[in-house]
Amino acid sequence: MTISHVLGYPRIGADRELKRATEAYWKGDIDRDALEQAGRELRLRHWQDQRDAGLDMITVGDFAFYDQVLNVSTLIGAVPKRFAAEDEVARGEVDLDTAFRMARGRAPSGEPAAACEMTKYFDTNYHYLVPELHSNQEFCLAGSRLFDEVEEANTLGHPLKVVLTGPLTWLWLGKERGEAAFDRLTLLDGLIGVYGEILVRLADLGVEWVQLDEPALAQDLPASWQNAYERAYHSLQAAPVKLLVASYFGGLGDNLSLAVGLPVAGLHIDAVRAPQDVDALIDRLLPHKVLSVGAIDGRNIWRADLVRLRDELASAQARLGERLWIAPSCSLLHVPVDLERESELDAEFKSWLAFARQKLDETVTLARALGGRLGAEDETRLAAASQAQASRQASPRIHRPEVATRLAALTDADAQRHSAYLTRGEAQRRVLGLPLFPTTTIGSFPQTAEIRAARRRFKAGDLPASDYEAQMKAEIEYAVKIQEALGLDMLVHGEPERNDMVEYFGEQLDGYAFTRFGWVQSYGSRCVKPPILFGDVARPEPMTVAWSQYAQSLTNAPMKGMLTGPVTMLQWAFVRDDQPRSVTCRQIALALRDEVCDLEAAGIHAIQIDEPALREGLPLRRAAWGEYLAWAVEAFRLSASGVADATQIHTHMCYSEFNDIIESIADLDADVITIETSRSDMELLDAFRDFDYPNEIGPGVYDIHSPNLPDVDWMVALMEKAAERISLERLWVNPDCGLKTRGWSEVEPALANMVEAARILRRRHA
Ligand code: GLN
Ligand code: ZN
Repeated sequence: MTISHVLGYPRIGADRELKRATEAYWKGDIDRDALEQAGRELRLRHWQDQRDAGLDMITVGDFAFYDQVLNVSTLIGAVPKRFAAEDEVARGEVDLDTAFRMARGRAPSGEPAAACEMTKYFDTNYHYLVPELHSNQEFCLAGSRLFDEVEEANTLGHPLKVVLTGPLTWLWLGKERGEAAFDRLTLLDGLIGVYGEILVRLADLGVEWVQLDEPALAQDLPASWQNAYERAYHSLQAAPVKLLVASYFGGLGDNLSLAVGLPVAGLHIDAVRAPQDVDALIDRLLPHKVLSVGAIDGRNIWRADLVRLRDELASAQARLGERLWIAPSCSLLHVPVDLERESELDAEFKSWLAFARQKLDETVTLARALGGRLGAEDETRLAAASQAQASRQASPRIHRPEVATRLAALTDADAQRHSAYLTRGEAQRRVLGLPLFPTTTIGSFPQTAEIRAARRRFKAGDLPASDYEAQMKAEIEYAVKIQEALGLDMLVHGEPERNDMVEYFGEQLDGYAFTRFGWVQSYGSRCVKPPILFGDVARPEPMTVAWSQYAQSLTNAPMKGMLTGPVTMLQWAFVRDDQPRSVTCRQIALALRDEVCDLEAAGIHAIQIDEPALREGLPLRRAAWGEYLAWAVEAFRLSASGVADATQIHTHMCYSEFNDIIESIADLDADVITIETSRSDMELLDAFRDFDYPNEIGPGVYDIHSPNLPDVDWMVALMEKAAERISLERLWVNPDCGLKTRGWSEVEPALANMVEAARILRRRHA
């Protein structure tokens, strides 16, 4: 028999019950007991789902009210002092409220305290709370939630396995704090001590298997870290449980020998992203060890080709027998909960998909197919899976010959502006007539309650299209008037008509589909609903031209058109897996290129193509960066290169860690780039010490995420710093991101100060 299991299951609930309960608790609408009850109900339901599907064991420990990495931090007493209530760590009873304070930035008194940093978990859109590490930090067993959950599952009689972020990955995800630099690996021994205690406690509760998540094994590890893995797992070897070390999100690469040699009972690998690892590991696996093959895609929503997987894994099955386990590639946290709820998707489209609930069935059926104990239901599933593959391969909804023809006809010249930046810059200056230190904004203006209410009513059919359009036009007019009154040099229309920068375009492009309930946890109680990019991308008609044209008709100042770039359109969606991402990205680029050309033809002289997701698309392994950057940059250039020299192409990115990809950013060859820098005090500009950025740049002079009014002198000083590295005629003055989350009462004075700063700079450098 072949064991089937999952690494983790979404905890948010098919109806986002967890979001509702936690937010209600934070607001004081429900009490602690009600919150705990909501959590318990979700755990029980999700375990039952796993049992009903026929998994051989359920997974306990994947539940979290906020974040699973934070769970470990509180479990091992890694609670920064500013959040901890008196001696709760020492007493070993870190409260859930303390975890919430760490996430939300509150001292025990209720006063604001700097929240723990949050960042993306590897290459996912899930954000974890970064552990804060201090030299000589001590750890201790400081919580009992995990053990309570195990007892809860034991009471129900479920066969189970416990999951916990592994010690090395926890440490890897942390960040050193405090004055003196230190090596965080010096904390390892203490950490392992506590993990040892945890494992003993779990064994006392009758737990046989513990899965320690170590996805850091899929990244480039320094030798000191590779050694640390060996050291740590040798120490944990004494623990009275069986350990399953789980690596995912990529291949083991040069960590393969390390992983296969760890003295543990089993290894889980991501066979979706690294199918080659299966045979390589089996060749070297000691005869008592289990190999859990992550064959079902935990990162995407496509139905698995079960027959192909069965055939591919047949030799692994023959060689490993009962030591082969089958699972999704990673926790199902990264996919939506249940496809059955999507009543508005047609049957054919639905037949191509599998969400978390369906992936449980796929996992079970694949395991049974390999173990040779197929039930009638499994036979049906295998046949349906093959049928779905065939229909996807042939469907005219997916394959549009005209898109393929257009892609095939592309030449290098299509990704190349007519002239080099210097020539273009001159032509643009003639057309635009801008002053030195021109001012602009990033695109969006406040999305007021009225705007959102109007859109809601429009989408529900309660507001006629003509009324909705009239209201959005009034918003645009309002934004234009204010920008003129403030004295901004290059205007924007303010994006009132957009809900979300990807959804807005996806809804107008062929090849994208949207779900109603396809929520995926992004951080804490926040969820996102990524679109599904399922087919060849085409643009049936212009998407933004009428709005931009209307906005330009209201003013003599240049109006900047506003688009979301191809890499971001790709990155923030579930993307088809039947062709390389690079090809899909190029298709989006061509659709956007048509939009860019149409904007130009409509009299728009500056067009911004936002790429906030360019950096997060970087592969986990350095060796793969070059290939990614090459096609990502090419896609951007394809979208931007259809216009004349005099049309100014802008781009925007919201991050400042730029230094390691600065050359690729320059390769985008945008005429102007606006970027985030204000929070990092122009740290970004360090990148320009060694690299001469060739085109124009607007280093964001104030942080739009802060409600504080930016100070004129502060902004002048930041620009002076920038002017030390970049010549004056290539500098722009702008905020560091879009303004849609702010109110007009904050935006107006902030921009007034920004314009004032630009005027001071102009006078100084005249
Ligand atoms: N143009 C978008 C806006 O201003 C850019 C958003 C972003 O950078 N994420 O909102
Ligand atoms: Zn931004």
